[in-house]
Amino acid sequence: LTAPESFAVEYWPLELYKLAQAPPPRELQGKIALVTGAAGGIGGSILDALASQDAVVIAADIDAAGAERVAGEYGDEGLGVAMDVTSEEAVQAAYRHAVLTYGGVDVIVSNAGIASSAPIEETSVEMWDRNHSILTRGYFLVAREAFKILRRQDNGGSVVFVASKNALVAGKNAAAYSSAKAAELHLARCLAEEGGAAGIRVNTVNPDAVLQGSRIWGSSWREERAAAYNIDPDQLEEHYRARTTLKVNILPEDIAQAVLHFASPVRSGKSTGNVLNVDGGVPAAYSR
Ligand code: NAD
Repeated sequence: LTAPESFAVEYWPLELYKLAQAPPPRELQGKIALVTGAAGGIGGSILDALASQDAVVIAADIDAAGAERVAGEYGDEGLGVAMDVTSEEAVQAAYRHAVLTYGGVDVIVSNAGIASSAPIEETSVEMWDRNHSILTRGYFLVAREAFKILRRQDNGGSVVFVASKNALVAGKNAAAYSSAKAAELHLARCLAEEGGAAGIRVNTVNPDAVLQGSRIWGSSWREERAAAYNIDPDQLEEHYRARTTLKVNILPEDIAQAVLHFASPVRSGKSTGNVLNVDGGVPAAYSR
């Protein structure tokens, strides 16, 4: 290639230059993502992370007003839907609403949750059932309806469970919550197996304690955890930081980036049945 002897500015392919400067298409462009528990701390950050890669986001929560409020931040690229994950009818109705609005769903993040705990002798049947109904039954219902849609679309898809580090390590005096989280984790593995041939990926993110922005930490859980560790509730943040290898507190956006990893086929298109712990490097013996 030889340079022209004279350069006439009117022949300068400026449009080509502008095209080269344009940002590349984002990873989730054209994808529709539904997030449960979206009105909460981690859920809100997940919406942000998915929207930052151009996904259209559907915020689902039992707190319908909260879901609408957070979805409103994304204009036409966001929808808020009421969804109680323990109710078969409510879960189906929310998916129907989403599909009628956007035509389908590609990414489903099952994140809704509560937490309560007590020593086993003091764990009531109500506490046990509440943890297991939202965390085990709820994750099953959200995933089952997702599978029906994803299979029909025949275009793969990603289901991400937000479980907990307590799915792997015994949460101190938290058998009801921890066993429900362990069930979530294994459910994800089973579903990864079932969805694999259809390109439906199912992965799990395990956060350790995320105090910032979390409604769970504004509930009885705060006092229950402090009692389990025999410390003052004000010392919890420091307690969790001190026990990590990296000496950090985990933030909602840390979890959101891990979820984005599994949501995006660019980043994790060949990962399924996997687990990503976001825990600052908690040693195996962390409950002592
Ligand atoms: P959060 O309380 O801020 O958000 C949870 C959301 O779930 C709330 O908006 C709540 O309204 C919603 N929800 C509760 N019950 C529901 C139901 N039946 N149907 C639909 N929505 C319901 O809590 P978070 O800290 O953002 O937690 C999100 C997820 O992360 C939960 O599954 C939690 O167990 C998990 N997790 C949290 C932590 C932490 O320390 N924050 C640690 C490990 C795992």
